[in-house]
Amino acid sequence: MEKKLTGRCMCGSVRYEYDGEPGESSYCHCDDCRRVTGGPYTVGVFSQAAKLNIICGSVKGYTTKGNSGKEITREFCPQCGSPLFTRSQMFPDSVWIKAGSLDQPELIKPSCQTWTQCAVPWAYIDESLPSYPKGTPPT
Ligand SMILES: [Zn+2]
Ligand SMILES: [Zn+2]
Repeated sequence: MEKKLTGRCMCGSVRYEYDGEPGESSYCHCDDCRRVTGGPYTVGVFSQAAKLNIICGSVKGYTTKGNSGKEITREFCPQCGSPLFTRSQMFPDSVWIKAGSLDQPELIKPSCQTWTQCAVPWAYIDESLPSYPKGTPPT
């Protein structure tokens, strides 16, 4: 089955396609993800960096140190500010695609939720999903 995912920022100056099998998707309730999205949490699709192609425009990155002490770079459209991708030094061959930037967001089914300890009371928490209150699944 052809599974090429495509997506873009709000203004459309950055467009991308992902020519691979999407990996696990997860909610992240950590403080940084909440602030960067402006919503209660972000939903990221774990993907192979080599199969993600930015087909027009270019992103800007902002790097912080994650709880692991490794660098995390969040990439966004410099024109409209839409968050698009997250890269981690811990997983140099991978990228998380922000599920809300996909043209086909309905294809994504989050399978776990991380940092639920930081979740705001008005965040939706699916009780049936594996949850990691103080971080991410053990790797
Ligand atoms: Zn944009
Ligand atoms: Zn996070």
